[in-house]
Amino acid sequence: MAVNRDTPLRFIKGVGEATGNKLAKLGLITAGDLIEFFPRRYEYRDELYLLADAPLGDPCATVLTVCSAPSLRYGNKNISYVKVNACDQSGTATLTFFNQPWMEKSLVYGRKFRVWGKVERYGYSFQISSPEIEPYSEDLPKVLPIYPLTKGVNQQLIRRLVKAVEACIEEEHNPIPPEIIQAQGLMERNAAVRALHFPQNRESVEKAKRSLAFEELILFQLALRRVRGSVNRGLATAMSYKDTGIGKFFTALPFSLTNAQERVVKEVFADLCRETPMCRMVQGDVGCGKTVIAAAAMAFAVKNGLQCAMMAPTEILANQHFITLGKLFEGFGIELALLTGSTSAKEKRRIKSGLSEGSIQAVVGTNAIIQKDVEYKNLGLVITDEQHRFGVLQRAALADKSTIRQPHSLVMSATPIPRSLSLILYGDMDISIIDSLPPGRQVIETRCVGEEKRQAVYDFINKQIAKGRQAYIICPLVEDGEGTADDKKSVESYKALFAKALPNVSALCLHGRMKGKEKDEVMSAFERGEASVLISTTVVEVGVNVPNATVMLIENAECFGLSQLHQLRGRVGRGDHKSFCIMLTDKASARLEVLCETTDGFKIAEADLAARGPGDFFGARQSGDARFAHASSADIPLIETTRNLAASLEKHPSPVLEEAVRRYLGGLGSENIFN
Ligand code: ADP
Ligand code: MG
Repeated sequence: MAVNRDTPLRFIKGVGEATGNKLAKLGLITAGDLIEFFPRRYEYRDELYLLADAPLGDPCATVLTVCSAPSLRYGNKNISYVKVNACDQSGTATLTFFNQPWMEKSLVYGRKFRVWGKVERYGYSFQISSPEIEPYSEDLPKVLPIYPLTKGVNQQLIRRLVKAVEACIEEEHNPIPPEIIQAQGLMERNAAVRALHFPQNRESVEKAKRSLAFEELILFQLALRRVRGSVNRGLATAMSYKDTGIGKFFTALPFSLTNAQERVVKEVFADLCRETPMCRMVQGDVGCGKTVIAAAAMAFAVKNGLQCAMMAPTEILANQHFITLGKLFEGFGIELALLTGSTSAKEKRRIKSGLSEGSIQAVVGTNAIIQKDVEYKNLGLVITDEQHRFGVLQRAALADKSTIRQPHSLVMSATPIPRSLSLILYGDMDISIIDSLPPGRQVIETRCVGEEKRQAVYDFINKQIAKGRQAYIICPLVEDGEGTADDKKSVESYKALFAKALPNVSALCLHGRMKGKEKDEVMSAFERGEASVLISTTVVEVGVNVPNATVMLIENAECFGLSQLHQLRGRVGRGDHKSFCIMLTDKASARLEVLCETTDGFKIAEADLAARGPGDFFGARQSGDARFAHASSADIPLIETTRNLAASLEKHPSPVLEEAVRRYLGGLGSENIFN
């Protein structure tokens, strides 16, 4: 049978229905899927070590000659052990094989084997447990690809299937122009794919990886430019200070702006007065006062006769913004609406027609405001809050909403991001930083404690509650069985535990599996003080504001990233009362100490990046457009290179590259836009 990329794997000889289903668990349906399914790592069995030089802790290949008679013994539960001594010129190792009694027969005195395993050293003697052995010869396979597996699918099966579909590697075109391949010392796509599935040596594997990473980054950069390009093509409406009375907005504020806020307002207003669409991000720690910047920009737009939209990642946050903005706009005559998933059908209709005829000037909402059926009369400014939750493409979708002219776009992020990452995520955005907090803001006392302090922590919470305060308790999971049996990890079982520890304290639960409406009810009940404790997953992380809450207790703090912990900490200390953040963890961790030492979000972000690497920086779900199959977002030089190249490639479009970018954008998909 002629195999092409679309051939279902289950039609391949020797596969069938059952195996096909198992492969599907790995996302492998067609031959093409398999071609794009790359080894997780490689075993370089051609790099031979002497026992004495073997790296400690990592498996490696040695060539050993059997130098004793093997012994077969049986231990508890009838487990068999075959032990034998084998040596090279540098020493002798004892090899142990568990439950492979037949090994006794193969391990003939004087026979030479290539041995793959972790060499452990005890004084002058070496040991290798459960090695893999092959009778030594010159033409043993040299490098083994190791694929991710699932139950019922082993390496042999994957390797055999890859071999069976090998021919369809060639169906793909190479999207990168050959001059660039040459100049950058890369491999053509097909050669690289081949080199990864049928590895020859470390050098070619590395080169192939680099080639695919390069291609991925080029496509990403081009896609980014495409999205931005569509944003930047149309002219924006230039606004003007004339006759807007915008000064009134500032004089009516209950506080005066900090220097940092004033600087950022100036930067934003200057952008708004241009015809080039603003594409600016305001970065600033939790509580630094970004909302008022957004409000000022919105007021400015409305007074210039334009509509504006503000998108928040959750309903809770959208509601809060609606209330806050309502207050800030008081007496300023702005018609503001709230549009979320749980807005009633009737209200939705009212808002939609108000937006399309222009009687509603500003709207706050979740991604409901970028759905296809929402039309704006003259959208002039789009604000997205808590940026990292939205992908590049979502921003583009919102920008696309404006019919003739492009709206200005302002993005608010409470996650200070190391420069290296912001380069990837926000490419050519302008960045404004609010680097100081409003005056009088208290420092949240932060402690990292072990399990032995649990009772003391509960007593402390109890005292705070007796004073009329409230507390958050954060658990990593919604329910048990998400890969753990630890009942302190899940919101649901924690509640029972907590009820025993502090029976007189009222507690509510909140987690991401609840419906939007349910969540909002719990949140507002907590805001109204109807419960003293809120047991929650990280859904409270974003923007929630309960000034009366003074304790943030984080269970299993080691499960969270530093930036995330910092965000959680920002939920308390919002009122006049002294506030506390307590991280409970069994695993004493130097990593968490950073939080006790500093409240500077940028410092914490750098430490987080250093500790966990960029892949985990935002957490798996949140990373969105930061996730690459081949590239690493830590490879700044490669990112810079591809960024510059993308700019020049755009000037010489090739149909193959064009198609690849289109596919790349398609792969990120509509699900990314509307999730
Ligand atoms: P974030 O940057 O986390 O979105 P917010 O905009 O919610 O912060 O502001 C946090 C709190 O600080 C709000 O209660 C807000 O009214 C207050 N605030 C903002 N700017 C100032 C200021 N210049 N002086 C005093 N309080 C301020
Ligand atoms: Mg905010």
